[in-house]
Amino acid sequence: MALHLQTLTELAAGLANREFTSVELTEVLLARIAEHNDTLNTFVTVTTDAALAAAARADDALAAGKGGVLNGLPIIHKDIFCTRGIKTSCGSKMLDNFISPYDATVVERMAAAGAVILGKSNMDEFAMGSSNETSYIGPVRNPWNLECSPGGSSGGSSAAVAARIAPAATGTDTGGSIRQPAALTGTVGIKPTYGRVSRYGMIAFASSLDQAGVITRSAEDAARLLGVMAGFDERDSTSIDKPVPDYVASLGDSIKGLRVGIVRQHFDQGLDDECGARVKDAIAVLESLGATTVEVDLPNLDLSVPTYYVVAPAECSSNLSRFDGVRFGHRAENAVDLLDLYCRSRGEGFGDEVKRRIMTGTYVLSAGYYDAYYLKAQKVRQLIADDFKNAFADVDVIAGPTTPTPAFKLGEKVDDPILMYLNDIYTIGANLAGLPAMSVPCGFVDDLPVGLHLVGAHFAEATLLRCAHQYQQQTDWHTACPAAFR
Ligand code: GLN
Repeated sequence: MALHLQTLTELAAGLANREFTSVELTEVLLARIAEHNDTLNTFVTVTTDAALAAAARADDALAAGKGGVLNGLPIIHKDIFCTRGIKTSCGSKMLDNFISPYDATVVERMAAAGAVILGKSNMDEFAMGSSNETSYIGPVRNPWNLECSPGGSSGGSSAAVAARIAPAATGTDTGGSIRQPAALTGTVGIKPTYGRVSRYGMIAFASSLDQAGVITRSAEDAARLLGVMAGFDERDSTSIDKPVPDYVASLGDSIKGLRVGIVRQHFDQGLDDECGARVKDAIAVLESLGATTVEVDLPNLDLSVPTYYVVAPAECSSNLSRFDGVRFGHRAENAVDLLDLYCRSRGEGFGDEVKRRIMTGTYVLSAGYYDAYYLKAQKVRQLIADDFKNAFADVDVIAGPTTPTPAFKLGEKVDDPILMYLNDIYTIGANLAGLPAMSVPCGFVDDLPVGLHLVGAHFAEATLLRCAHQYQQQTDWHTACPAAFR
């Protein structure tokens, strides 16, 4: 099979068997970037020379019988992860001139395992968005239909993996930004438990919700990568010191007896009928593998979007206050005084959506409104977390749709923030409760992919990955490739 069509796992085997070299593989993918990036706009930065040099080192390591578990495998990092010596823009004009002096832990660990970085992927500005249209370098296009969005905020990562430009890419998920783009592009996306993967060097949006993960073409590939990324990091005070299981080792175990929770509210109004039908078919496949379904109730789930849109902007208004034009990032020219420097640097550096979030966040944290909005949202957040806790007393995973509809047209929702925010109605709960969750391709509506959403209890990543892998042994939705990118 052509190299670009192979999964990470297949490529790892091919490298180990000396069927091709990492340099050859990297050259194939760099050529695909050159061919498709003008159309898809998946990259902020392509690191051609560094990639070829890393691939050559990986080939040397392989020849010497050395090399980590990702040795010679090309991947892409979302441009939210700091990369030493490489621009880290976070999708914003504010950081267009920022060359990070250090690597994020995720970047460091993957590099130590031998991964070859092809470049940095396009994303919504500071990860705020669901369509990749808030990026300062313009939107990413969905390989399944170039008029559609690939989802966001990890839209560059999802489109690149779907278009077979790279076998895998990192992403971050604050309210759905790994899973929603995965669903909209027919790829696999996993957001681990909060604290499972270090946030060190990952530019903060909403610190109590942000979590790093991956977008891949199979659950098996996601398991391989998560094993490398996960684990304690003393540089992140919310990182959890708990051993990382071998996620690959348990993939083959049966899901017979697995209790799958179905949330009735998920299939109520708002869900596209065809999407709902594909998701129900997927749940039937899990049942055919011996899983049992149980109806569960998440009574406060309908409050998750409004709760998120208080908590996330509050945290972002604080996190983004560091971008003041003084220390790093965009600085306005010819400021007349300090206040003018602050105002114009921020006014020029940030886009509209980021400004909307900062204003909302500042408002809900202000003395007069703190109790009414921020404190209230924190209480509701706890109720939502309790709902999940109760549900996971009875079930092992919760299954449902990842998104209410398949990919929507670019431009369709961008002027209606509320409509855009509702895209994450099924995904946000997992972030509020800190739970692991993933999206797995489960069919098509017309020519657009649909995602099955799986949520687990804290640290149940292995269960999610096993469930997804077993599903992928029975179905081939994850192997479908958009026609123009075969
Ligand atoms: N779409 C959501 C938002 O705009 C989630 C983004 C994310 O997960 N980074 O905030």
